[in-house]
This record gives sequence, structure tokens and C-alpha cells, in this order.
Amino acid sequence: MSDKQIASKAPITQDVMTLPRKEPVGGKINLVGLTRTQMREALITHGTAEKQAKMRVGQIWQWIYQWGKRDFADMTNLAKAYRAQLEEHFEIRIPEVVSKQVSTDGTRKYLVRINGGHEVEVVYIPEDDRGTLCISSQVGCTLTCSFCHTGTQKLVRNLTAAEVVGQVMMARDDLDEWPVPGTRKDDTSRKLSNIVLMGMGEPLYNFENVRDAMKIAMDPEGISFSRRRITLSTSGVVPEIARTAEEIGCLLAISFHATTNDVRDILVPINKRWDIEQLLQSLADYPKVSNSERITFEYVMLAGVNDSDEDAHRLVDHIKRYKIPAKINLIPFNEWPGSPYKRSSNNRIRAFSDIVHDAGYASPVRKTRGDDIMAACGQLKSATERARKSRKQIEAEAATPKL
Ligand code: SAH
Ligand code: SF4
Repeated sequence: MSDKQIASKAPITQDVMTLPRKEPVGGKINLVGLTRTQMREALITHGTAEKQAKMRVGQIWQWIYQWGKRDFADMTNLAKAYRAQLEEHFEIRIPEVVSKQVSTDGTRKYLVRINGGHEVEVVYIPEDDRGTLCISSQVGCTLTCSFCHTGTQKLVRNLTAAEVVGQVMMARDDLDEWPVPGTRKDDTSRKLSNIVLMGMGEPLYNFENVRDAMKIAMDPEGISFSRRRITLSTSGVVPEIARTAEEIGCLLAISFHATTNDVRDILVPINKRWDIEQLLQSLADYPKVSNSERITFEYVMLAGVNDSDEDAHRLVDHIKRYKIPAKINLIPFNEWPGSPYKRSSNNRIRAFSDIVHDAGYASPVRKTRGDDIMAACGQLKSATERARKSRKQIEAEAATPKL
């Protein structure tokens, strides 16, 4: 796309305040969220001998991410004096749980507090054969998808890598899932077996922190999630999709939601910046680079807006045209107070699903979980961040060109 074309489209921007990650908080540097290289540098800066640093990182890493320890005193394979030295400069800190609600269906919704007193939501969904944790990447969101509750909340800031991986660590604490040193649980028996980046925020507008956090979650000497058990959901930040394939390699879900640019411009306004064709091309390229399987197309069912038989056929045509290995996840719209849309009827959803299925694609309808505690997709919104985006602010954001 030429610059002129870009300029002619309303650019989507973000207004992000990211906390400097390596800045000591409360005087100490948080070791959580640092890559191995960053941890090594931090240790050397604060007195660890250079030739020992790699080994020390390995030891500390295991205590933090494999055994879930937060206290240097527990790190029994380190000399006492060295532990005291670590204690002086570093801390091991994850977001603090402010509240926890448990739904009648077992879904758990946590509200966690991050630096600066902001809060984000994390949801744990137990199923027969898996347990999925839905984590957040931003407080609020710069984008303004018209059906999404988070989209009505202005972006406060990006989460740091510590805060992203810290949500996983928090859930393992709550599920009592840290293995006892000397043992190792296999993947299938894990209560927390899958991670989805489908909570608050647009993960690809916080790329580096999300990447570093997921790399930590995948590290085999630690939490050791397979990259096939992590799904990143994006509204369609096209340039970052290729980077996700190269630098993270996890599964990808795309908030597709509409089959024409006119409708998608309204439902998912980032479409004005990167339209359906550009998006489909980036999706066609994704599996080759990431060596992953199918891409999940998320499609929220909105009565009378995007749920016709024609839409279903067009959706299939798009996917076929680009030969994208795909599964289509139909999401019954979760209404929220003041939401401008209604959920499609069950019959309509079934008819839509049948068309997609008959065309050769899996088209499961997502079960709504945690309804009684407002834990469903797109309903997440922190209780303390009620600030609604004003129309003026949305316009200002849309008018400022992105880098
Ligand atoms: N920003 C990312 C990830 C967070 S949203 C994205 O947009 O993909 C996670 C999923 O929930 C997305 O598919 C989103 O479109 C969907 N969603 C948002 N609001 C919803 C609602 N009210 N009902 C159903 N799904 C919703
Ligand atoms: Fe942001 Fe995703 Fe909600 Fe759109 S659907 S406003 S990108 S969180």
C-alpha cells in the first residue's frame, strides 16, 4: 500500500504509556518478565561474577518459573551470602489478586492489580480435557470495536512482560499447580493447560512485552507451555502478524467478524487501516512461517448485522480464495449494559454454522461460560477504570498517524 493510500484511510493509533521494564520498582528490580539475557545483565550489574552469571540465571530461572518460588531464601542451591545479595537488589513480583469470583460452572474470574494501581481481569475456564487461562495484554484498548466492552474503555497503558506472564503465575498459585521440586507434571494432567490472549487489550499493540512473556511461558526449564497451547487473538494488526509468526510462533486467532469492508469498518475499525484483503494475505502467510496449524477465525454473531446466509458464504469464499487452513469459531454476542447490538438467535447461528461446516470447515459455536459473573469474552472491563472514551478522544486517536 502506498503512503497516499495509507493517508487516505483513517489511521488507528495508540496512545501508550509503558512503564520502563528494568526500572527498579520500590528500589528493587523485578526479575519476573526479564528474558534470560536481560536477567544475566541485571545480575552482573549487581555483583554476580560474569563467568558465573549464566549458571546463576539457570538456577534462579528454575526456582521462579519451574517451582514457583518468590522468595530468595527458598533457593537452597545458592549460597546464603549470595541469596542475601540478591535480596538486596531484586524482587520476584507478580500482579496482586484483588478479587476472585467463581461461577456456578467453575469459571474463575480474577481481578488483579498491577503497578500504578490499575486493574485487569483474568479468566480461568475449566473444561473436561483442558483448562484455559484468558489473559490481558493492556489496561483498556486503543481500538474501538463497536461490540466490545473493553473498547469503550480508554487505553491506560500496556502491561509489562512481568505483568503478562505474572497472570499465568498467579493462576498457577490459585490452582495450586506448581510442581514440587524433583517432580514434573506432564502436559495432559495440567489444570492450566492452555493460554489465550483474549482478555483486555490488543496484544499486537504491545508486541515486545507479549512476546517476551510468552517466550518465558514456553521456556522448557520453566512453565514450559507448548507453543501450540498458546493462542494469540488479534483484531488484525497486519504488520505484526508476520512478526508473531517469526518471533512467537504460537497459534493465531483473528477477530474477523464481518465479510465486507463496509461492515468490518464499523465493527472492527482497524479495518480502515488494513482491510479484509490485506488481512487475508497476512493470514495466508502465517502458517508457512510459524509452522502452525489452522488459524481460528473468530466471528461474533450480531443479529441482523453480520449473520446472514450471504455472510456465511462470503466468509467461506474469502478463506477458500486465500487457501487458509481455518476453523471458524462462532461467538454468540455477549451483551453488556448499553451494548448497541443483540445476539443472533440460536437458529440463525445454527444455519450460519451449517453453511460453513458444509463448505468443509469446522464451525463450533463457542459455549458461553461464566455468564453469571460477566466473565465472557468481550465483557471484561476493570471496575476501577470506568472512564469512557469520549467521542472527541476517539476522533483524536483516529487522526494521529501511527508510526
Ligand atoms: N484485542 C484482541 C483480543 C481481545 S478480544 C482481539 O480483538 O482479538 C477477544 C475476543 O472477544 C475477540 O475475538 C473479540 O472480538 C471478542 N469479543 C469482544 N467483545 C465481545 C462481545 N461482547 N461478545 C462476544 N465476543 C466479543
Ligand atoms: Fe480492543 Fe479486541 Fe475489544 Fe477490539 S475486540 S476493542 S481490539 S479488545
